[in-house]
Amino acid sequence: MEKVAVVMDWGGTWVRAGVVDSGGNLLWHDRSLNKAGGTQSELISGAYRVLENALRWCEDKAVVGVGIAAAGPIDAESGIFYSPPNLQVLDGVCIKGIWEEATGYPIVIGNDATMAALGEYNYGAGLDPDDGIESSRTLLYLTISTGVGGGVVDRGKVVVGAHGMAAEVGHMRIDSGESAPTCQCGNKGCLEALVSGTSIVRLFNLELDRVADTVKQSWNERQVDTQVIFEAANYGDPIAESILTKVIADLSVGITNLVHLFNPDRVVLGGGVSLSLTKFGYIETIRDMVAGAVMSTRHKEFNIKPAKLGDNAGLIGAACLIWEQFE
Ligand SMILES: [Zn+2]
Repeated sequence: MEKVAVVMDWGGTWVRAGVVDSGGNLLWHDRSLNKAGGTQSELISGAYRVLENALRWCEDKAVVGVGIAAAGPIDAESGIFYSPPNLQVLDGVCIKGIWEEATGYPIVIGNDATMAALGEYNYGAGLDPDDGIESSRTLLYLTISTGVGGGVVDRGKVVVGAHGMAAEVGHMRIDSGESAPTCQCGNKGCLEALVSGTSIVRLFNLELDRVADTVKQSWNERQVDTQVIFEAANYGDPIAESILTKVIADLSVGITNLVHLFNPDRVVLGGGVSLSLTKFGYIETIRDMVAGAVMSTRHKEFNIKPAKLGDNAGLIGAACLIWEQFE
């Protein structure tokens, strides 16, 4: 029988499940919306239904284990959620314990961005040999979308931390000023509060409040999201340009700090904001800013790549952990 890993990526909006073979191929996947405003048991049973579908699909296959990538913080060892901002009703829940009993399979669980880092390392942007750098030894993954998350894989191993919560890169403090924007973690001036999609829109709207009414009116008729802001900057809109100039500078400071900490040869950018950064040609600018700021020529030996696995990175990364632990 073919050996497979059953995997899940449980985010704030969607819960996705999949079946991955030992070559990193996603054989089957399905997804379902978390019930909006759902209770703890409604969310758990909704996610379990998707997991059951995946297990049912594997009837003629040998399931090695179940890997779950979840919007944390989550303790990778105990499998307990700790105040997850995007899945708040799951605070204190040990999903690993509940589902190991329900499914009869061993479960590994981890932060979704960490799992995505592992997926990209093994089967995505970590593999591209270019710029004279062969497949990655140390890969730093950043996801920039509604929030900012990340993960680090060093020579095949995920950097997990004592409690499985390492690389919360979005909450690295970038701006220590009094007027720094407040982050959803409660601190001020975190990378997430400066460069996430939500933050870009909020900073843009704040800036709009300061300008003349005529300018404001022309904008108020439009639904502003990050893509609109990137497009406006591309056409030379001064407000959009000034916001993005600051975003690029803050993101470059964040990546510079991370390059000094982890010395990656590959920095992989995932998430919706990263798609816009790539589309509108900002990646080279960021690379140049980081390369200009790091302390040695050796630190400059990295490239920045867009993520390759898209929404599947977490699922494929969760499968990598299954093969690593149970095979
Ligand atoms: Zn924060």
